[in-house]
Amino acid sequence: MKLKLHQLGDPVLRQVARELNAGEIGSDFIRQLIEHMKEAMRDAPGVGLAAPQIGLPLQLAVIEDRPEYLKDVSKEELRAKGRKPVSFHAMINPRIVRSEGETQEFFEGCLSFAGYAAIVPRAHKVTVEYLDETGKRKTVSAEGWYARILQHEIDHLNGTAYVDRMHTRTLTTMENFNRNWKSRSEEDVLRMLK
Ligand code: ZN
Repeated sequence: MKLKLHQLGDPVLRQVARELNAGEIGSDFIRQLIEHMKEAMRDAPGVGLAAPQIGLPLQLAVIEDRPEYLKDVSKEELRAKGRKPVSFHAMINPRIVRSEGETQEFFEGCLSFAGYAAIVPRAHKVTVEYLDETGKRKTVSAEGWYARILQHEIDHLNGTAYVDRMHTRTLTTMENFNRNWKSRSEEDVLRMLK
């Protein structure tokens, strides 16, 4: 099954997704949905996917940052972004319960706004409470890139996209990102585009 990734302009990306109830969590439907979302995320490829992005207004997201995605990224960039592998997991009804640390500015993209990127400020560290796919209550404290992924996906569950938070003048096609901005620090890009 090939899932369609819904693009900005689709109302499903602008509504607050509803929570899953105890009866749904662990059901065959949700277990299969998580598998389909994992496949769609890996196909894209992406590091996170929220149910509204496949047209379902449900509080469910999957996240995974595979070691193979990191192997072509420089050590400096990995360090600056605090990016490390994150193993696959599903999050049900997630809530950010704490945001800490200095705001980080990095380019990010979205599978629902394909072909573009912009600099988006995000909290350096967040604590998130959620239910795993079996309904077990979990708390995760994440920093760096993982914290950014969590904020991005949880935004989707609340009808928010990165375009609502970006520095608007930094919005770029991926082609122009690779041509003009990729090799510069975000600090320089923000200064140049002020
Ligand atoms: Zn997105």
